[in-house]
Amino acid sequence: MKREINKILVANRGEIALRVMRTCKKLGISSVAIYSEADQYAPFVKFADEAVLVGPPPSIKSYLNQDKIVNEALRLGVDAIHPGYGFLSENAEFASKVMNAGIIFIGPSSEAIKVMGDKLSAKNAVMQYDIPMVPGLNSAVTDVEEAKESAEKIGFPILIKASAGGGGKGMRIVENKDEFEDQMKRAVSEAESAFGNGAVFIEKYITEPRHIEIQVLADHHGNIVHLFERDCSIQRRHQKVIEEAPSAVLSEEMREKMGEAACDVARSCNYHGAGTVEFIYENDSFYFLEMNTRLQVEHPVTELITGVDLVEEQIKIASGEKLSEYLNHLSIKGHALELRVYAEDPLNDFLPDIGKIKVYNKPKGEGVRVDDAVEAGMDIPIYYDPMISKLIVHGENREDAINKMLKAIDDYDIVGVKTTLSFCKFAINHSDFRSGNFDTRFVKLHFSDPSILEADEESVKVALSAIFYLNNMGKINESYLPSKKNNWRKS
Ligand code: ADP
Repeated sequence: MKREINKILVANRGEIALRVMRTCKKLGISSVAIYSEADQYAPFVKFADEAVLVGPPPSIKSYLNQDKIVNEALRLGVDAIHPGYGFLSENAEFASKVMNAGIIFIGPSSEAIKVMGDKLSAKNAVMQYDIPMVPGLNSAVTDVEEAKESAEKIGFPILIKASAGGGGKGMRIVENKDEFEDQMKRAVSEAESAFGNGAVFIEKYITEPRHIEIQVLADHHGNIVHLFERDCSIQRRHQKVIEEAPSAVLSEEMREKMGEAACDVARSCNYHGAGTVEFIYENDSFYFLEMNTRLQVEHPVTELITGVDLVEEQIKIASGEKLSEYLNHLSIKGHALELRVYAEDPLNDFLPDIGKIKVYNKPKGEGVRVDDAVEAGMDIPIYYDPMISKLIVHGENREDAINKMLKAIDDYDIVGVKTTLSFCKFAINHSDFRSGNFDTRFVKLHFSDPSILEADEESVKVALSAIFYLNNMGKINESYLPSKKNNWRKS
């Protein structure tokens, strides 16, 4: 059963490719990068022991070109393929192609990916366990009148969801019966064009929920553990922006209950590898949303509070090792926060701001981790997700982590493209975030007018002018002067 892994091809790009390769290096495993013409000079390509060009910039011709990737892996004699997140990471066909080629897929079986890749089949799979579900239908709706009746029984507002949905796409909130037909038609056509599958179902719309997910690890020998939760309630358009661990609201008892439910979800599809079970949480109740059968973007916050290298565990599991005994005795150490730094303009509806990064200085210090894949002089390609980095901090407690994060944001110098750092600073510093009293509506409630960021900048400028004036008048001590680095001057 045990197979040696000496060479891993990372079928991904950017920060996650680099992050996986770092663990390979630590374990003495050689790494192979694949890259498109747009990424020729990217840091992850330079970092890899070997690198192979797989095609032109559009992902469909490079990072999604399954046969090319498998053929290159065979040619270069790799033992295993790590898919990262996004691209082919949750593609059941790719997983089986890799395995059929005699290469280890660092992830679950193709069958588990298929079951959990569809929200309806996932709900059906977990039904054998006593796992709370959002009130709703467990099968696709096709007839509008029947669907309307069901919606009335469930009670408005309801959410129409694409069964094949992902990335927060294909969801429509319906407030009342009159809107239903129109919204359902839109949802079906959106699902068809985005996922090539028009199946939709309906769920009760939980109005003030938190998004809480549980990290699990499962080996090939039937052992499953959970590594506590991540709270990802700060979202924009159903997409996560800030993540933290542990959650500010879970009791120890609830944590254990949700952890056990997550292990059952993994059990329901004979899972092996690292996976995440997502729940929606409101008023001390939790409901199963879906399982992501891969490493999550936000996995570092779990690593920081547990000390576990999740990529290392993925590799060990893939090689057939049993979960280490210590994983059964983990405890939460401190508090971790992560924010996703995008090359987007928060003042202009978060439109991507692609271009050359002229200056790039990242924050350093104890408890500060930056998972990135950029450097000064580099262009952010237009072809892919415009994420620059993930800024992650680890503090003694939540308050300490928040303060560390604010300092790290101030220390982060990115010139050349606009970034979401100012927006993240606003969110982290908000009284509701600081108090832990928020839900997934946070951005909608507090960020309806983006000029609030400009107002913030304006007030900083006014304050600074006052300080400099007083200083010139000799009425203020030097130590009160702000450092030259102020976030409002960046990006
Ligand atoms: P996706 O696969 O597109 O990410 P999810 O089912 O994971 O979709 O949901 C993404 C986000 O949408 C959740 O984190 C939550 O904020 C919101 N959401 C999903 N289902 C519901 C629901 N029934 N009620 C309220 N919000 C929901």
